[in-house]
Amino acid sequence: MSERKVRVRFAPSPTGALHIGGVRTALYNYLFARQHGGEFVFRIEDTDSNRFVPGAEEYILESFKWLGIHFDEGVSFGGKYGPYRQSERRDIYKKYVRVLLESGEAYIAFDTPDELEAKRKEIANFQYDASTRLSMRNSLTMSEAEVQALLSEGKQYVVRFKIEPDEKICVHDLIRGDVVINSSILDDKVLYKSADELPTYHLANIVDDHLMEISHVIRGEEWLPSAPLHVLLYRAFGWEDTMPEFAHLPLLLKPDGNGKLSKRDGDRLGFPVFPLEWHDPKTGEVSSGYRESGYLPEAVINFLALLGWNPGNDQEIMSMDDLIRLFDLHRCSKAGAKFDYEKGKWFNHEYILLKSNEEIAEMFIPILKEHGVDAPKETVVTVVGLMKGRVSFIKELWDTCKFFFVAPVEYDEKTVKKRWKEDSAVCMTELADLLESLDDFSLAHQEEVVMKWIEDKGYHVGNIMNAFRLALVGEGKGPHMFDISAVLGKEETLKRIRRAVEVLK
Ligand code: GLU
Repeated sequence: MSERKVRVRFAPSPTGALHIGGVRTALYNYLFARQHGGEFVFRIEDTDSNRFVPGAEEYILESFKWLGIHFDEGVSFGGKYGPYRQSERRDIYKKYVRVLLESGEAYIAFDTPDELEAKRKEIANFQYDASTRLSMRNSLTMSEAEVQALLSEGKQYVVRFKIEPDEKICVHDLIRGDVVINSSILDDKVLYKSADELPTYHLANIVDDHLMEISHVIRGEEWLPSAPLHVLLYRAFGWEDTMPEFAHLPLLLKPDGNGKLSKRDGDRLGFPVFPLEWHDPKTGEVSSGYRESGYLPEAVINFLALLGWNPGNDQEIMSMDDLIRLFDLHRCSKAGAKFDYEKGKWFNHEYILLKSNEEIAEMFIPILKEHGVDAPKETVVTVVGLMKGRVSFIKELWDTCKFFFVAPVEYDEKTVKKRWKEDSAVCMTELADLLESLDDFSLAHQEEVVMKWIEDKGYHVGNIMNAFRLALVGEGKGPHMFDISAVLGKEETLKRIRRAVEVLK
């Protein structure tokens, strides 16, 4: 078993946008596959046609493309275990349903929804299982001839898994250890429905994991209750020897309070729960995405990787390659992981700092264009270098540094009151004259000359710099003054000082 090739899969149902928890599941599978030189399969579990949502599959694929999570085979990637869309595997499942019927591990049931409803009313906590199945309309209680007659009449039926009661079932989980349950709590699960000629999730999932030679099933905790049934199915098919290893990942919890993270938490607290913006084709509702909100994919990956796993020390910034090297299923927690979205913003800030000024400039230039600014690339690169430490999102750069690109039209009233002194107009005129005389407008030279002038005149450094700032920026914020004037250049700097004197004198 330990020699087995690592093959893992991400198997979403295309029922809508991919939840951020699903992204984490896919990420952990990807890290595990890469670390072990294994293969990562993308399977679409679309056997529940009622819940099918058009566009969901494309959305999921685009999300992973953006995030840099790659698949080796599967829907849209090809591979020798296909087709990878379950709705295209009907005949395969039918064959395995027959296997279970023939071995007596499953049986046909004709109970109509109304009959089942009546039973539920008659018996409190009714469960279709060993204690009740013999009072139902199925192939265990009917004669062979009767069953055949109904089938040839075209009566709808389901195939149920015959679960023996009072048996200990053990799921070996790589994160949780042995999870043991008593089979009596399980009902005879429906494995197949004649109405749409499709298997249910459980059967399709097991058959495909087996046929696709999946070695490890790494999925969300919400699937843990299904795992004992899955173990029984492997046994019923005689596939115990190649049964995958299980790892059920911890839940993602609300940022505040208890319980599972939901889309409503995102709406309530203002953060995305989807990787990309999602337009619900049924309701028309638009939900925000990490991409459109300005997150860098690397930051999202790093943030998600640490929700339920840690490298065993306090290292936080990890690239995809670092994660592939360090990831360890045994270091995943059993307890749920609080979804600390503020931490997500922090990661984005850190990744902005890690990127070169050129890269950030490339991303900022379209935003500048939207605001009608067409600045030379070198200038944008310099400004980004000065200002990127102050933002969590690239789009925040506009508000933080627009004064580099557009002259102030107004001057912030409060700042004027506080910073523009009686002698400011005179001093600023002197400063403008002084700067005008400079041939070398470099940061260092400006600074040297201006500081000397301040000293010679006995001016107050703070007062001069405050008025200078107000003239160039329009308010009391921004980086080092000579950084600003050096970027603006002589002409623009003089223009701004003289206008401020004009307006504020
Ligand atoms: N189709 C299931 C889902 O939507 C797959 C669960 C599993 O990984 O077994 O997540």
